Amino acid sequence: MQKPTAIVIGAGIGGITTAARLAKNGYEVTVLEKESTPGGRCNQILREGHRFDIGPTLFLMPEIWEETFAALGEKMSDHLALRRIDPTYKVHFDDGLQLELTSNIGDMQTQLEKVDKTAFTGFLNYLAEGSKHYKLSLEKFVGRNFYNIFEYFSPGNLPLLFKLKALRKHYANTGRFFRDERLKAAFTFQNMYLGLSPYDAPATYSLLQYTELAEGVWYPMGGMYAAIEALVKIAERLGVRFLYNAPVRKIGVEGSRVADVHLQDGRRFSADIFVGNADLPYIYKELLPANAESKKLENKLYTCSTIMFYWGVDKEYPQIAHHNVFLGGGYKASFDQIFIDHTLPEVPSFYVHAPARTDPAAAPNGQETLYVLVPVGHLDARAQQDWEALVNRARETVFTRLARELGAADLREHIKFEIAYWPPVWKKRFNLEKGAAFGLSHNFWQVGYLRPQNRHRVYRNLYFAGASTHPGTGLPIVLLSAKLTTERILKEAGTISVQNLNYASSHG
Ligand SMILES: Cc1cc2nc3c(=O)[nH]c(=O)nc-3n(C[C@H](O)[C@H](O)[C@H](O)COP(=O)(O)OP(=O)(O)OC[C@H]3O[C@@H](n4cnc5c(N)ncnc54)[C@H](O)[C@@H]3O)c2cc1C
Repeated sequence: MQKPTAIVIGAGIGGITTAARLAKNGYEVTVLEKESTPGGRCNQILREGHRFDIGPTLFLMPEIWEETFAALGEKMSDHLALRRIDPTYKVHFDDGLQLELTSNIGDMQTQLEKVDKTAFTGFLNYLAEGSKHYKLSLEKFVGRNFYNIFEYFSPGNLPLLFKLKALRKHYANTGRFFRDERLKAAFTFQNMYLGLSPYDAPATYSLLQYTELAEGVWYPMGGMYAAIEALVKIAERLGVRFLYNAPVRKIGVEGSRVADVHLQDGRRFSADIFVGNADLPYIYKELLPANAESKKLENKLYTCSTIMFYWGVDKEYPQIAHHNVFLGGGYKASFDQIFIDHTLPEVPSFYVHAPARTDPAAAPNGQETLYVLVPVGHLDARAQQDWEALVNRARETVFTRLARELGAADLREHIKFEIAYWPPVWKKRFNLEKGAAFGLSHNFWQVGYLRPQNRHRVYRNLYFAGASTHPGTGLPIVLLSAKLTTERILKEAGTISVQNLNYASSHG
C-alpha cells in the first residue's frame, strides 16, 4: 500500500519532531527548511572555537522530552548527556542584593529569611501552588487538543480556570506569598521566557518557578543544539527527508485543500497533508492566499523581542555563573516600556549565559563564550525605534553592571568578536511576525482553544506545529505541540496508532 505523504514547512524543533512522529506512524515526510541547517531559534553559532546557542539555553521539563524520545522508539539518555544546573541562576538586583535560586531548601531558607522573616513560608506555599498549576494545566489544558469551543469551556473545565488562577495576574498573585518587591520580582521575571509581562501573564505561570526548582534546569553537554542534532538523526533514521536552503514562497490551494507548496527557486511539492512549522502569523500573511484571518492575527498580542550579544572573549571570567539575571530598577515601568511602548526600558534588565562553566568545550581553553539577552519591545511602526541607538545603550548597560557587580571591568577589551541580533534580525532570519522572539503572546485570550488552532479552518489538510499555535512557546511546549498536531492528523486521517491511543488513555 502506498504511504500517505506529508510536507513540513520549517525544521525548527516543532517541524523536526512532527516530521519524526508522522514518519514513525507510516507517513512519507519531506521537511523544507529555508536555512542551511535545522533548529530554527534553537540553532547555534560556531566561530573561532566558541559555540553559542542562538536562543534557548534552559532545558526544562525533562519528562516531556523523555516522552518525545520514547514516542520515536528511543531513550533520551542514549542521545543526550544532561547536567543539572543548580543553583539555577544568580539573580542580581540593582540595589546590590544577590540571590542564588536553588533546589537546596536549606540554602533558600537562609537567603530568603535575610530579606524578610516570612519569605520562606511564602516560598514553600508559592511552590506548592506552582506544582498544582503545573500538573493541572499539563493534564487538562496544555497537553490536549480542543476540537471545539464546547470542549474548552465545558462545565468540567470552567472550575479549572479558577483553580489555575487563569483570570488573575501573576505579579498581583505573587503578593499573596511575598511582601518584598525584590522577591516578587525574583519569582515572576521567568515570565519573560514566554515573552510575557508578569503584570499581564495569568497567575497560572507560577508553574515555571516550580518546574525549575523542583524538576530542575538542565543543560545538554554540547549545548542545546545537541538536542536538535539528536532529533534530526532519529527523524532521518525513520525516513524523514530534509531539504535545506529551500525557502517556501507560496502555499497553493484548491477549494478547501492545500494542493502544493512552491519554493522560491520554482520547485513545487505536493502531498496529502501539510504542516506549517514556520511562525503561524507569517504563514497566514505571506504564504497563504490573501485572507481576513491574517489581519486579525496581526492585531493580536505578541511576545517581546530581544537584543542579543554573542561575544567570543579571550579571557575567562569564573565569577560569571552559568545562568545570571540582572534586574533593573523600576520593575513595573520596565515591563510597560517593553510591552506598551515597545522599546528598551530606561533601566534594562538582562540575562547572561556562560556555558563554559559547565561545558568547557563551549569555548577555547582559558577563554569565554558569553551570550547576553536583553528583553526589548517587538517591532512597531508607530514607536520610535532607533535600533542602532537602542542596541548601543543595551550593550553599555551590560558592560556597566558586569564591571560594577562582578568586577569584569576589562571585559570590553577582551571581546574578540561580537555577533548581535535585534528585532529586525529575528524577523528577517526566522520570519517571526513583528520580530517577536517567542511568537504570539499567551494571555487568557490567546491560550487553549482561543489560540490559533493547529489545523486551518478552511484548508483541512493544513496543520500547524510550533510556538504560535496551541499550546505555545518554549521548547518542551513546542514538543507537546508536535505531539498534539500529530495526534490530530492521525485521528482525522483515521489512522491513529495503538501507541498514541495508549498514551492518551494513560494520561486521562
Ligand atoms: C532568545 C530566545 C531564548 C529562548 N530561551 C528558551 C529557553 O531557555 N528554553 C526554552 O525552552 N525555550 C526558549 N525559547 C523558546 C524556543 O526557542 C522556541 O519556543 C522554539 O525554539 C520554537 O520552535 P518552533 O519549531 O516553533 O519555531 P522555529 O524555531 O522558529 O522554527 C521554524 C523554522 O521555520 C523556518 N522557516 C521560516 N520560514 C520559512 C519558509 N518560508 N520556508 C521554509 N522554512 C521556513 C525557520 O528558518 C525555522 O527553522 C527561547 C527563544 C528565544 C528566541
